[in-house]
Amino acid sequence: MKPPHSLLGIRQLTTPQIEAILKLARRMDPKRPPQLLRGKRVVLLFYESSTRTRTSFEFAAKALGATTTLITAASSSIEKGESLIDTGWTITSLEADAIVIRHPNSGAPYLLARHVPVPVVNAGDGMHQHPSQALLDALTIANHKTRLKGLRVVIVGDVYHSRVARSNAELLSRFGAEIVFCGPPNFVPGVSATIAPGVVATHDLNAALQGADVVMSLRVQKERLAGKHHSVEDYIADYQITPQRMKLAKPDAILMHPGPLIRGMELTSEVADGPQACILEQVRNGVKVRMAIMATVLGAAR
Ligand code: ASP
Repeated sequence: MKPPHSLLGIRQLTTPQIEAILKLARRMDPKRPPQLLRGKRVVLLFYESSTRTRTSFEFAAKALGATTTLITAASSSIEKGESLIDTGWTITSLEADAIVIRHPNSGAPYLLARHVPVPVVNAGDGMHQHPSQALLDALTIANHKTRLKGLRVVIVGDVYHSRVARSNAELLSRFGAEIVFCGPPNFVPGVSATIAPGVVATHDLNAALQGADVVMSLRVQKERLAGKHHSVEDYIADYQITPQRMKLAKPDAILMHPGPLIRGMELTSEVADGPQACILEQVRNGVKVRMAIMATVLGAAR
């Protein structure tokens, strides 16, 4: 099987490539890492804020022996108006071996990948894709469930603006999971229609949660709302994940959240800190998955 040159979105990966990344991630031990990327230079190009993704890509690359440099929009020539492509050419002229990019515009990593010779890893582009998050979510689910096929995965909240929801739906439905998008009409348009094979949508949270194996709560993405108004009170009343609502799911259901979580908004602290929550496990798995991704795109996976 040929490894992917870049990691842009879930659709660009074949099923064997996804399986290979997950298999490699399982073998990665961030405390005893193989020095697969010794001598490699990885640039972290972040045009949008990040805590988990940025730190875990940095730890992942460094654990494998690479050196990393962080470029953020605010402290670089990007602020002076340099284009994405010129920034990419500058980075590759400095002999970087790979670029990890987060950008507020959907498609930006795809554009960059067409212009630079080195692998590009999408660390989140606008409302479009967040493939490393979907891979670490799949690893987390697989740690708790015997198989992805047939699982009922309910993704609750601001689905419309969520690259996490899109990437997860694409990946998990590929492996036969049933995906239910749930939220208010402005966050989940197109209710009752089947969105893609294995993906349905509803506004009724209590119905959606019945029999759920996985409940994935999403943040309301204020930075992408662009003037649209939402009543916080109504959102909390109808869509907040509470201990009572978690009881509608299967007793062994797990609760996930990509972070950052806003306690008291999309979920309560009792749920976030409760026995079903896997939120910090997702964060830990992020380092392993990103080690596997970097080793894969840099041709060092073995
Ligand atoms: N951290 C995730 C992302 O970058 C989810 C979020 O921001 O709400 O898409």
